Amino acid sequence: MHPSLAKTKQAVFWVDQLDSTTEEPFALTGSKETDLVIIGGGFTGLWTALLASEANPGRRIVILESETVGYGASSRNGGFCDASLTHGLENGVSHWPEEMPTLVRLGRENLNGIIETTERHNIGCDVEKTGEINVATEQWQVEQLLESTNLAKSFGEDIQFLDSNAVKEQVNSPTYLAGLWNRDGALMLDPGKLVRGLQDTVTSLGVAIFEKSPVVDLTKSGNKIVVSTQNGQVSADRVVIATNAFNPVLKKIRRYVIPVYDHVLVSEPLSSSQLQSLNWSNRQGVGDSGNQFHYYRLTKSNRVLWGGYDAHYYFGNRMGSEVENNDQTFSMLAEHFFETFPQLEGLSFTHKWSGPIGTTTRFSCTWGSSHQGQVAWAVGYTGLGVGASRFGAQVALDLVDGIDTERTELEMVRKQPFPFPPEPFRWLGVQITSSMMKRSDRNEGRRGLWLKLLDRFGIGFDS
Ligand SMILES: Cc1cc2nc3c(=O)[nH]c(=O)nc-3n(C[C@H](O)[C@H](O)[C@H](O)COP(=O)(O)OP(=O)(O)OC[C@H]3O[C@@H](n4cnc5c(N)ncnc54)[C@H](O)[C@@H]3O)c2cc1C
Repeated sequence: MHPSLAKTKQAVFWVDQLDSTTEEPFALTGSKETDLVIIGGGFTGLWTALLASEANPGRRIVILESETVGYGASSRNGGFCDASLTHGLENGVSHWPEEMPTLVRLGRENLNGIIETTERHNIGCDVEKTGEINVATEQWQVEQLLESTNLAKSFGEDIQFLDSNAVKEQVNSPTYLAGLWNRDGALMLDPGKLVRGLQDTVTSLGVAIFEKSPVVDLTKSGNKIVVSTQNGQVSADRVVIATNAFNPVLKKIRRYVIPVYDHVLVSEPLSSSQLQSLNWSNRQGVGDSGNQFHYYRLTKSNRVLWGGYDAHYYFGNRMGSEVENNDQTFSMLAEHFFETFPQLEGLSFTHKWSGPIGTTTRFSCTWGSSHQGQVAWAVGYTGLGVGASRFGAQVALDLVDGIDTERTELEMVRKQPFPFPPEPFRWLGVQITSSMMKRSDRNEGRRGLWLKLLDRFGIGFDS
């Protein structure tokens, strides 16, 4: 194990630093009736509840969460809150070239909506309007960043290309060759505090939340949908499924989304001289530009959060605590950290964790509906759901309420992604694609035959 991990605890930093609640999880028992049931208490579920309740204050809403609110990806992520709804401009343009101007505008409106809502409800989640820098650590990535600069400019983004000296003036690493700073396309925030703030807000608006209440069945009875847990059931007019990477209640969704585990380290707080050695006074989020990439940022207390690079898919969509402690990956991440910031040699990591990203073959959310439109879902944001989940929730509500909007007209909403094949081809496909992506990174970004074939069909594997 890497020496910097000698005293690291397996815990999510964002959750560990929250004030502990005295309230015990309250599970569903007996039979209830309501207007809207939401399955899953992550960002998608919480935003669905908040948006539905603000649009119609009298609406009776129940959230059913199998563990505790925020148990999934929503408390375990890097806290990069991005305007992109499409996992980046390039991915969006490759799938929905005609729709991209609309999707970019809707993404900006969505990000503004998040800021406006957190301010209006006094949700303190340490928002920092820093933007994000993509850095190049190989020459071929510099060319790629130059292309991205032109694309971003054509969509009116506030961006700045940084050469080798300029990028080091923003964040000081000897590995950087260039950078592209998107100044207003992303916020850094504390996702644990955002989950807690949204939970408190929806509770204050009258939403009932039942934790430790995994949904096991969903059936139509007369004109109602009956949602069952082990010890209770709720009969509702409408249901939104917000279970992301987890085994969804409806078989229909299983083909489109798979769980991929991503890993994160958080360091002890930096001293002022360590902080100074990084030149990181604008505090941007940073991501590097390979197929396998790291993302990193400063927390409010000047720790470094460092994650990504080595995402894992386990055969048969396996999930749970037994796959979450991956020492080899944590050690690799620590090694990469000190290659990037050798001036921080001797720093220790206090927290390590991993979490399930719900990914689709097009790396962005997919929606759908069933039961004559009374059930809808939004799942599969891949690694960019902190911001996009609010949009995902809004679309799921439009669908389940049968309201035609600009959003429901989008091809991105109407068309499903290419499905993942069943096992063992699913596992095999992911392994081959991952190893071809690694090879492409070693090979100056050249995409071999396999990746080119997938590109042609608009499909792939990402985190
Ligand atoms: C390590 C990591 C880093 C990431 N970093 C970023 C980042 O920096 N920026 C970014 O934009 N995105 C990031 N993401 C992705 C982002 O966190 C997710 O896209 C987003 O949180 C999805 O929210 P969600 O509510 O849809 O899903 P989740 O938060 O996963 O919520 C789903 C919920 O459903 C519950 N559930 C499942 N099945 C049932 C059932 N049968 N009954 C009841 N409840 C059920 C689960 O317990 C869970 O709480 C990251 C993800 C991970 C794992």
